[in-house]
Amino acid sequence: MDFELTDEERAFQEAVRKFGDRFLRTRERQIDTEGRIPDDVLAEMARLGLLAMPVSTEYGGMGASAVLTELAAEEIGRGDFSMATAVFFLLEAGWGFILDRHGTEDAKREVLPAVCAGKAFLGIATTEPSGGSDLANMRTRSQRYGDGFSLRGEKSFVSGVEEAKRLGGGHLTLTRAEEGGFNFLYVPTKSPGASTQKFQNMGRMGISTGAISYDGVRVPRSYLVGAEGKGFGCAMEGFSVARTFVSAACIGAAERALETGMAYIKERQVFGQPLGKFEGIQFELVDLWVQVEAVKWQCRRAAWLLDRYTLRGDHSHRAEVDRAVASVKLTAPPIAFEAVKRVMMWFGAAGYTKDVGLELGMRGVMSYLVGAEGGLNIMRIILGRELLGKEFLANQ
Ligand SMILES: Cc1cc2nc3c(=O)[nH]c(=O)nc-3n(C[C@H](O)[C@H](O)[C@H](O)COP(=O)(O)OP(=O)(O)OC[C@H]3O[C@@H](n4cnc5c(N)ncnc54)[C@H](O)[C@@H]3O)c2cc1C
Repeated sequence: MDFELTDEERAFQEAVRKFGDRFLRTRERQIDTEGRIPDDVLAEMARLGLLAMPVSTEYGGMGASAVLTELAAEEIGRGDFSMATAVFFLLEAGWGFILDRHGTEDAKREVLPAVCAGKAFLGIATTEPSGGSDLANMRTRSQRYGDGFSLRGEKSFVSGVEEAKRLGGGHLTLTRAEEGGFNFLYVPTKSPGASTQKFQNMGRMGISTGAISYDGVRVPRSYLVGAEGKGFGCAMEGFSVARTFVSAACIGAAERALETGMAYIKERQVFGQPLGKFEGIQFELVDLWVQVEAVKWQCRRAAWLLDRYTLRGDHSHRAEVDRAVASVKLTAPPIAFEAVKRVMMWFGAAGYTKDVGLELGMRGVMSYLVGAEGGLNIMRIILGRELLGKEFLANQ
């Protein structure tokens, strides 16, 4: 067991923190109000190798480990408190990895270099208007058509619909296959027959969320991810990877909130002394810090397990990986939200202003409490199944 980061990992972490300080902290309000991540920020991310980090070097990525990507996600969550940049980052990392692992050579050559260069967006489309948790009940269908597939249906609450239209690119889309099972298909957002609608979110405004309708959208067979009818497993593998990076981004946001709070309670004078000298505040700080520290190591372990098994295509420890990922996705967002909320209260009335900016983090982290990358109860369902066994639950 070794908890030490390597020199390379530490140097990379520092480089990403510098990027976050220079490009994200200074621009997060602009990202939130303008509703997009500026092109120069994406260009710098591409230059640093931050876009779709785990993608192999052959396709323009840096072939990064999950641990290195997790470290970067923390720093990006700390840098852009609104979480918009973190969402962009982690979608490309998680789903870029899946396309690299399970996509065809043609699709990889066409899509991944552009994604890694910041010239195309890659996201995930599984949720439908009828629900996102019960994926097995989805209605969007793909049927064989010529040497490819034709899609009909609708996806909902999909991140990056506008970015995929503006930059190019699309979403890995889970569909019910005509012959049974699920087809996982890369669908360019600008495909004929595809139309989008943007939703008005309350947070992480720098990345859009919306619906995509498919009215006989045709995609070539080369856009199939994984084997025909077997796409569900590929999507679940992607969720394991992406949920780990979501959790890391939440941890970065929590650390930023605590740093902001600590600086303030050392300065703010109440009843003749700094706020931080009162044990009522100190104890809150300590309780939050301990929780953030615990979930950070839980997250690093999840990333370590991904490196050891999932990223090598080894599914022999799937239950262990699922438990670790579901645990961290269950705990990191609520802890981050609580940290932001408590620090906001230390600021008193000032915490309620946009000048202090804690509301950016609160609105952003909330997306992971309501459901993005899987609701909290879904993590509980995964863990309950792992702890009690599918057989026991099926026989109840
Ligand atoms: C900002 C944002 C971005 C998103 N981006 C994407 C994206 O890029 N691609 C995509 O496909 N989806 C995306 N989603 C959708 C997300 O995946 C879904 O919100 C999530 O899967 C939950 O689905 P739902 O919202 O339909 O809630 P429902 O499935 O209707 O569930 C409602 C609530 O009930 C809980 N619940 C569900 N089943 C049970 C049960 N059996 N027992 C107890 N509780 C239960 C859920 O946890 C949730 O809290 C995004 C969501 C948000 C908020």
